[in-house]
Amino acid sequence: MEGHKYRQSEFGKWKRCRRAHHWQYTEGLYLTSPEGQLPTPNKSDIGTYAHVGFAALHKGETLDSALMLVAAEHEHRFAGETTDEWDKTVEYALSSVRHYNDWLEEGHTTGQKILGVEMPWEAELDSNSYRFRWVYGTTDLVVDDPLTGVVVVDMKTVGSQTQTPEEVDFQLRTYAWAYWQETGIVPARAEHRMVKRVLHGGTAKPPFVSTHGIHINEGILTMHHLHMAVMATEIDWARESEVQDQYLYPNPHKDCKWDCSYRDICPLVDDGGDVESVVQLSYVRTSDEQ
Ligand code: SF4
Repeated sequence: MEGHKYRQSEFGKWKRCRRAHHWQYTEGLYLTSPEGQLPTPNKSDIGTYAHVGFAALHKGETLDSALMLVAAEHEHRFAGETTDEWDKTVEYALSSVRHYNDWLEEGHTTGQKILGVEMPWEAELDSNSYRFRWVYGTTDLVVDDPLTGVVVVDMKTVGSQTQTPEEVDFQLRTYAWAYWQETGIVPARAEHRMVKRVLHGGTAKPPFVSTHGIHINEGILTMHHLHMAVMATEIDWARESEVQDQYLYPNPHKDCKWDCSYRDICPLVDDGGDVESVVQLSYVRTSDEQ
């Protein structure tokens, strides 16, 4: 029986830019760096490191321990090698963890009981006699709030700031839907906690953490399930009909030319340039995203 597993993040990419989706999730293209050089960090690396610290705080670790785990994550990833750019990335992540810890200590989550931290999940989208389809991901945090009930929480950092509100809400509904599929419990809310970029040298204390939540009910999650199934069918069609990347329309947005991993090859597609030779030089093809 044939089947496919969709990473939850690929639906957002599909909505945002089908060309970028094709390169990331169908071809598995990832930017690489010349032999012996560390890759250039991007904004998502701040989030990757900061999430290690956020999870440690949610598990009851001290702030010092959370900060040490973030630094250790970086050292482990590059076997102790670093660059000024990577040091700056780690410093942003450490600052984000410190400010999130301050926010927790201010009592914003008082009374909440933590039900789960960094919870991987796989949930069935739809299956029949000839194929199965699943969605998978990891939910950052689930809490039981004394006022509202179960809340599914997604942590965001500066790496997610270009996501539109619609994309964030879609992702929140996916996490709530997954929790419902796994436990049978419909969460009352889903929210993201955005830990913002830290201003260097500023004396004022801006709000470093902001929250945005949406209400959830069974009807919303049922519609969301259908929405994902339709998108999965579109993705399948593009893959099965071997649609080439030049036919997958790009969807440029104001930030994509500096924030997309494919910004160097994207214009070549439209100009008839030699995409493949740049891919050979600057990218690796993996299959782990398929
Ligand atoms: S540069 Fe913009 S249009 Fe091109 S693949 Fe990336 S997101 Fe899409």
